[in-house]
Amino acid sequence: LITEAGLYTASDQIIILSPENVDSVLFNSSAAHLVEFYATWCGHCVAFSPTWKSLARDIKEWRPAVDLAAIDCADESNRKVCTNFGITGYPSLKFFPAYSSSESRGQDLRGFPRDVRGLRHYIIDKLEMHNEAWPPACPPLETASEAEIDNFFQTNNVDHLALVFESKNSYVGREVTLDLLQYENIAVRRVLDTEMSLVSRFGVTDFPSCYLYNSSGNIYRLKVLSEARTFYSYALQRLPGVVRTGKPQIPITDLIKNSTVEWRPFNKTRVYMSDLESALHYSLRVELSGHISISGDDLTALKKYIHVLAKYFPGRPSVKSALKTLDNWLQLQTGAEIRYSDFRDVLDNTVQTSDAVLPEGVQWVGCQGSQERYRGYPCAVWTLFHVLTVQAKETGSSDPQEVLQAMRGYVSSFFGCRPCATHFESMAQESMDHVTSLSSAVLWLWIRHNRVNNRLAGDLSEDPHFPKIQWPSPELCPSCHGVKRTGEHQWNQEEVQIFLQNYFSSARILTDYLQ
Ligand code: FAD
Repeated sequence: LITEAGLYTASDQIIILSPENVDSVLFNSSAAHLVEFYATWCGHCVAFSPTWKSLARDIKEWRPAVDLAAIDCADESNRKVCTNFGITGYPSLKFFPAYSSSESRGQDLRGFPRDVRGLRHYIIDKLEMHNEAWPPACPPLETASEAEIDNFFQTNNVDHLALVFESKNSYVGREVTLDLLQYENIAVRRVLDTEMSLVSRFGVTDFPSCYLYNSSGNIYRLKVLSEARTFYSYALQRLPGVVRTGKPQIPITDLIKNSTVEWRPFNKTRVYMSDLESALHYSLRVELSGHISISGDDLTALKKYIHVLAKYFPGRPSVKSALKTLDNWLQLQTGAEIRYSDFRDVLDNTVQTSDAVLPEGVQWVGCQGSQERYRGYPCAVWTLFHVLTVQAKETGSSDPQEVLQAMRGYVSSFFGCRPCATHFESMAQESMDHVTSLSSAVLWLWIRHNRVNNRLAGDLSEDPHFPKIQWPSPELCPSCHGVKRTGEHQWNQEEVQIFLQNYFSSARILTDYLQ
């Protein structure tokens, strides 16, 4: 069980301040910080915490320039820090510019907005107030002039310059500039609609709109589903030659040439049965084998996991039959513990004598990584559980929690990546119990998977050929994406539901490469 005090956990991408780290985080840092001082018992703080977490996810890409932090002033060990900063009410926000000195008490944000968009704009206003020590990672945010653009490629070593044409009070250009801050080979500048010579030279008619200008002098308009920040940033991050800093992209053909493992060409937009069967093999024969005897909560988790597999795994008859045999055997085990070797005997021996068989070995297809250390099993675990939630809906299960709780139990008791298990459990504790329908179970898993994608984007574990995105992309499901009147991106959840139901449906699973 997770026993984190306070309103935030390590998975929230918010720096949790304490007397030990407060000075090193806030003072003399190359990034600016926005800090929330809160008390766990304060209702307004509890109500505000989802916004603070959403903001952290929303501006994750801005982190080298500005980071979010929080400190629980109700925790006695933090009292002195909060008193030193003159905190008397909660929640309070303070901004610490880059290179703040240890004397600094931060700038109070009185009457701050309570929504992500408002806070984001506030942060940009604050960043722009840096006059002496501009955060080194922060790109220029001011408007570009014609002269600057004309000489751009002489003074900047990039292939692409993206120009966001917009009105003076629009924040889109600055938001996109910051969203691209961790990407190389591209620069973003905002141009005001009053810059008439540029407006007419580029033939701009819509504000905002985004134009690409490259080093060979070509100009074209960026094609997006909606003229809004999220769509611009997503499209620009994926331009040819644009790479995340520190993630050079070796062409996949070169990787294949030098790899000892055979590459299986696949369709990136489909689910493969080979991945699902490989996940079963790895989970039942490799991951579980680390547990010599299984008892207590682990045994309950195993029984639930095998039971949902037996019920919903949309596999070949022989695999389904193997899972049913295992499930029947497990249900008969009423003792306090089982031995893994007995479980394995049922899986391998008894089972192989009939027409029930789970193929040995792994053969990743849709879950192949560009190198062996990437993707594979964890990718297939996600895919497996998405398929199972969809399958439970397709077959009209009576318990909306069944698959999710089975996944929770499996991940908590057996998933070898222990930090993953901790993060997943904290998401489960937060909201899994609120799932009351089969459709919301499908959506719950989709939303949490996107949370994990957001947290891991740019991480060492990210395969540069399969970047972590908020999925499905606008190309994969245009109707899943929309914008609010304010220009904020919005998922069209009804469309997402339809999309997931189709994408993970048993009828669409490809059987190529099956052993
Ligand atoms: P994955 O994220 O594994 O996704 C696999 C496929 O699912 C994608 O290719 C895409 O087709 C589809 N997909 C992507 N997003 C969604 C979505 N939102 N809904 C439905 N389908 C989607 N790694 C860590 O480093 N830290 C962690 O804390 C962590 N937690 C994890 C928790 C769980 C429960 C699991 C199963 C894995 C976790 N991992 C974690 C591993 C990580 O999430 C990835 O699985 C791994 O990095 C491989 O990434 P991938 O590129 O193959 O894509």
